[in-house]
Order: sequence, then C-alpha cells, then structure tokens
Amino acid sequence: MYICYLCNGLEKMSYDCAVCGAHMLDGGKIVDYYGDYSPYMEIEDAQLVDGVPNSSESHQCVHVGVCSACNHMEEIMINEETFHQ
Ligand SMILES: [Zn+2]
Ligand SMILES: [Zn+2]
Repeated sequence: MYICYLCNGLEKMSYDCAVCGAHMLDGGKIVDYYGDYSPYMEIEDAQLVDGVPNSSESHQCVHVGVCSACNHMEEIMINEETFHQ
C-alpha cells in the first residue's frame, strides 16, 4: 500500500523556496485547488489536472508548496511510500 506521507500527516514538507530560500509550507494537494473549478470532476480527470498522467499509478502526489516568507507557490511532487505499521 502506497501512501503520501504529507497527506497523512506523517511528514512535514521539507522544501526550500526557489525564490528566497525560506522553508515552504504544505498548501495541500494541487487537485484540491483545481477542484474548486469543477466540483463534479471524476477522479480520473482530477489526476490529469495535475499534469501527471496516471499520477496515482506512479505513486506520486502533487502538492502545492507555499513559501512561508514570500508566498511563492510551487508544485512539488511527493513520492508516495509504502506504509509500514
Ligand atoms: Zn499528498
Ligand atoms: Zn520565498
């Protein structure tokens, strides 16, 4: 079973802003942003929205990183990992 550690609160985003170097905060999954525009979108279509065909198959979760200092936003690919209890 693959899970996104960020979505499940097991890990914090640990990326630095490309603009100013401050640490970035997790702004959530990118599909949640685009989802606002199309509330009835099917799951398959939602996966295409993030620009990564079959992103669920490649076990990657696309998040939006928001810089804590300058509010720069960036798409960040999170590799989903196998979950061991
Ligand atoms: Zn995620
Ligand atoms: Zn920044």
